[in-house]
Formats: sequence, structure tokens, C-alpha cells
Amino acid sequence: MTGLTPGRRWQPAYSPFQKDSFGEKTLRVLELSVKGPLFGCRMCGNCLLSKTALICPMECPKGLRNGPCGGSTSEYCYVDKSRPCVWYEIYDRAHKFGWEEDLMEVLPPLDWEKVGRDSWGGIFRNAAKLGAGSVARGLISPATRKETIDKIFRPVRQPEWWQGDSEYHAPKSSEPVSELQRRLDSGEFVVTCEVMPPLSASTAKLGEHIDIVKPFITAVNFTDNQAAMPRMSSWACGEVSMKHDAEPVLQMSARNRSRGSLQSEIIGASALGFRNVLCVTGDSARLSPPPRDQMDINDLDAIQMVWVLRRMRDEGKYLDGRELKYPPKLFIGAVASPFSSNPKFQALREHKKVNAGAQFFQTNLIFDIDGMEVWLNELAKRNILDKVHILAGVTTVRSMKMARKLMDTPGVYFPQATFERLQKADEAGNAAEEGVQIALELIARIKTYRAQGIHGIHIMPIGWHDIVPRVVEESGLTKMLV
Ligand code: SF4
Repeated sequence: MTGLTPGRRWQPAYSPFQKDSFGEKTLRVLELSVKGPLFGCRMCGNCLLSKTALICPMECPKGLRNGPCGGSTSEYCYVDKSRPCVWYEIYDRAHKFGWEEDLMEVLPPLDWEKVGRDSWGGIFRNAAKLGAGSVARGLISPATRKETIDKIFRPVRQPEWWQGDSEYHAPKSSEPVSELQRRLDSGEFVVTCEVMPPLSASTAKLGEHIDIVKPFITAVNFTDNQAAMPRMSSWACGEVSMKHDAEPVLQMSARNRSRGSLQSEIIGASALGFRNVLCVTGDSARLSPPPRDQMDINDLDAIQMVWVLRRMRDEGKYLDGRELKYPPKLFIGAVASPFSSNPKFQALREHKKVNAGAQFFQTNLIFDIDGMEVWLNELAKRNILDKVHILAGVTTVRSMKMARKLMDTPGVYFPQATFERLQKADEAGNAAEEGVQIALELIARIKTYRAQGIHGIHIMPIGWHDIVPRVVEESGLTKMLV
């Protein structure tokens, strides 16, 4: 007990407020003293090392447990440029040792009650259940080694309430739940568009912007506090959108959202008529204006969000196992990032999202078609192109200020040649028109990849909503039906 405050208030917020036995405390100290120096263990209580190439993923500042975020690079973590992306290191090592497919298992979010506690207790208990003899025999023989290790580690890694795997989970029903899904499933080449949520409580401009783009698109996305900057919520914008007869895509970011709020919001959203949901991990709060939001690790990542939503929809279950009498009706989407880290690694992450339940992808901005093709080829090698609809992200660069920003945006590759082309046009006072021409050329080329899995265009006008009708019409997208 401390001198002036009673109880255990000095205890770090992370540690569960429970009294541990002497044995548990000893095991915890032992585990930390071995795994700390070896792996930089942070005692998350659900050890994943057996599926992460023996590198602890909890070094990721977002706490991502299923792969890198869309802003990752091969050189550094975009949240903290002083260190490498730990997930890039995990993928790199797994690739070198031929363990890549181990990374496919959908890993659970933390069980916060276990954080700060040992994982070894569970591991020892599992080994004891198998018996010393059978563990020794299983480990000696190369034929049974992997299976024996899995029997010992899997129950610790995959608690009853999660049971993640590496399998593809097809949607239970093939009946479309939204116009976006209906059109994509029937083979139409669709257009979606992002409308920026307003910074104030007025919906006048928002309604105007929705009306401008509505005749030219199938569904409209509303970002969820992009760049960690508070704006009107995606949810509220979607409500306005439905009043304007435009089908919304509800973007939900893992940042600022717990597993509890995700489940509650998704039931509410479905009850109100939202069908299309885009799960994103979300930009780090480090990008937000100060004073900054909590920058602790996320409760969930985008893959875990997809997994939870699919199970709610198809198995009619909450994460805690309770039955959902009327499950939500959802068309589940996720973001794909052709230019993050390395296309081969990124394809692995996209594959994992598809297995978890993603039915459509909207990609990050594309300015390099050859690079997009490399990424598509990696997806093709993984045989997932017939399981997901891909909508390629395009924007119209309006100014040199925007071009400079794009050069520095995590997950976006803005080629030097495109920059110079815009610069030249800018000197002649023509940057915005050149930006439109670049977008039209990109769309013309992207359309030729329809047979290779690109099923639509996702326009991100970044505030320039008036340009959307022209881009859609001049690129011939209005005529691209089956
Ligand atoms: S995954 Fe968790 S238990 Fe395993 S080394 Fe990392 S922090 Fe420690």
C-alpha cells in the first residue's frame, strides 16, 4: 500500500487488477526474463511467436497482430520513422525460411484480461496433456514436428472464442444485400466515390456533394476521421446519403473503436439500412493535430474486424458466443494497398483479408499501372481474384501542393515522372487540367484489367467533388455495363 493513496492505485493501467498466486508471479518473471531479451516480449498474454516467424509483433505501434498496415514501407514504420516496420521484418524472415503460409492464420485480438500475464502456463499445460513421451517423439520426427508444436501452441494462440484459421470462408448466402453487391456480382464495372465528411454540423454542403456525384456512381464512401482528424462521422454522413437516395459505404476504422463498439455499431447500422461496410485499420493518431488522441495499440485490426463481422453475419454470433437472433446484413469490404511494403507481402495480407471474409476491396491510390499489374499477378498466384471484387483507387491531382503531399503519403507511390509532368503544367498555369488528364489516362489503362480482376473504379476526389461527373463521363465509365 502506498503512503497517501490506498489500495493498488500505483499499479500500471495495463496490469489486470487481480491478485496472482506466487506460482503465477514466478512464471511471469521467468517468462519475461527469457523472452524479454530474446524477443523483446511485452507479455501480451496470447503469444503468437509460433506464427510470426519468431518475431514479436507487439512492437508494432498500432499493435497489429495480423500483418502490416497500408502505410508500411520496406524501410521504416510510418508511425515511428526511427525504426523498421516489424511486420516487414516478420514477412521477410518468413519468406527466407519458407514459413510464409504460417502467416495466413487469422490471429485473435488481445484478451485484455491476460495482458501482463504469462503464456507459458498454458503451453506447459498443453504439453503435459500430450505427455512427455509423445511430445519428445513428436518433436524428434520431422514428419510430426509441426503438428506437435501446433498441438502445444495453438490452444494458447487461438482461444475458444476466436478459433482463427487459414481457410477461405465463403459468404453463407450469395443473395446480394446491396445495389453495389448486386452490380458487382452481376459483372458490371462499377464506380464508387468518396465524399469528404464536413468539418462542422451543417449537412448543406454534404448534401450538395452527394447530389453532384450520385448520378455517376453506384455507392458513396464516407471516410472515418481520415488522418485521425475529427470530422462528421461516417455513420451520420451515411444517414444523410440515404436521405438523398445514394447508397452509402460505411467506413469503420479500428482506431478509436473497441470490439464492443464495433459489434454494437454494426447491428445498429444494419438496422438503419447500411449494407456496405469498409473495414480499415485507420491512420495512426500520430497524424492527427495535437493534442493527440490515445496512441496505445488498437483493440482490433482490420482483418480482425472483417472476421468478427463475417461471423456475426454468417454464424449469427457475437464474439463472446451469444446468439444473434437477427444477424446483420452486410457486404463486407476492406482496403487493399498495392504499393505498401512489397507486392508479394501485400498479396499475402490481401489473401488473409479475403479468407477472413472480405468480399470487395477498394485500393489505395494508384498512379503506376505497371506496379498495379505486379501486385495483381501476386494476387493471381494466390487464386483469390475470383473471390473478391477489386475497385481501383484513382484521384485527380489538383495542384502542386497536393502532388507534394502525395509524394509523402504512406502507402501511395507517386512517380517522379508524374510529378514532373504536373510541375511543367503548373508552370503554364494548367496543373488542375493536367491532373484530370492523368486520371483519365489511368482509368483508361485500369479498365483493360477487367479480366484480371479489376471490377471497378473508386474515385477519391479529395474535396474536388465537381470534377467527378466529368471524369466518369469522359472516361466512358457510364457505359461499362456487362
Ligand atoms: S507475442 Fe506476446 S507473449 Fe509472444 S513475445 Fe510478443 S508480447 Fe510476448
